Amino acid sequence: TKEYKIAVLGSPGVGKSSICLQFSRNQFPENYEPAVADYYRKQVALDGDHITVHIIDTAGDDKSLSDFISQAHGFILVFDITRSNSLAELDYYHELIRKTKNCIEMPLILVGNKLDANNFRQVLHEHAQKVAIQWKCRFYELSAKNKTNLDLIFIESLRLIRQE
Ligand code: GDP
Ligand code: MG
Repeated sequence: TKEYKIAVLGSPGVGKSSICLQFSRNQFPENYEPAVADYYRKQVALDGDHITVHIIDTAGDDKSLSDFISQAHGFILVFDITRSNSLAELDYYHELIRKTKNCIEMPLILVGNKLDANNFRQVLHEHAQKVAIQWKCRFYELSAKNKTNLDLIFIESLRLIRQE
């Protein structure tokens, strides 16, 4: 079977660990340690192939982030639709990926999490879509809590990696 590594990046509190845990283990912990990075694994079927996905739930300093980025084949950049700064803060991670991988086009996607909390939205869909156009990547909104679009973002990420 083929193996791919996807790194999930974004500011503390946007829901990276929740996304990783829901996708790999069907768990949604309300309280999860923000400073901890971890690896998860899941078998998926994609376009007739069996694939092992290694998901890197990132956290921590520049040095460990660079290590995670070096290992990864694809990237999911996460912001929280209920916290406007969290989108701007992704510039930092996008730049770090660009520098670490030393290339312009990368298999990355932009995702806005906490879609279930739409009533508290601070980031307009159109605004994030503009960022995605700048970065030449796709943009999705999801909820780790109720799993809306959760499988979709990993499948899209894997498709991008396989196109490389
Ligand atoms: P991380 O620091 O990026 O790993 O974020 P966590 O996964 O630890 O989540 C931070 C907080 O946001 C926790 O209280 C989660 O329960 C909450 N959270 C994560 N995903 C969602 C979601 O899809 N909807 C809602 N309403 N809350 C979420
Ligand atoms: Mg976390």
